[in-house]
Amino acid sequence: MLKGSCLCGQITYQYDGVIDEISMCHCRQCQRAQGSAFAAVAPIRSSAFTITTGQQQLAEFRASANKARVFCRLCGSPLYSARDDLPAIKRLRLGTLDTPVTAKTQYHAFVSSKASWFSISDELPQFERFKPS
Ligand SMILES: [Zn+2]
Ligand SMILES: [Zn+2]
Repeated sequence: MLKGSCLCGQITYQYDGVIDEISMCHCRQCQRAQGSAFAAVAPIRSSAFTITTGQQQLAEFRASANKARVFCRLCGSPLYSARDDLPAIKRLRLGTLDTPVTAKTQYHAFVSSKASWFSISDELPQFERFKPS
């Protein structure tokens, strides 16, 4: 069981599953949403994800019409994104995890918009946009 929380601690969650595909998304939306060079993200099964406290503090913003970016309305921590057309999956923001995870798959997405001040210094695969399926 993995656990996580937002910066102010009002929202806590648990995930009864395994984090097995970690990616770093360098798209402009993620850069703005995180205030950073990229977002570290992993797909999780919605059915195994539970908000354990602070449900009423969840807020969402839609930069794309079909995708909610969910965050804590008190402290602003980004928690996950959820697409309307893929309700079975959420994409967790890994910085909010309190339980350590061991990465299995890692890659960089949307390197076409990588921040000019950030250098990728690992050997992981880099994709211009989405990982090809
Ligand atoms: Zn919070
Ligand atoms: Zn992104």
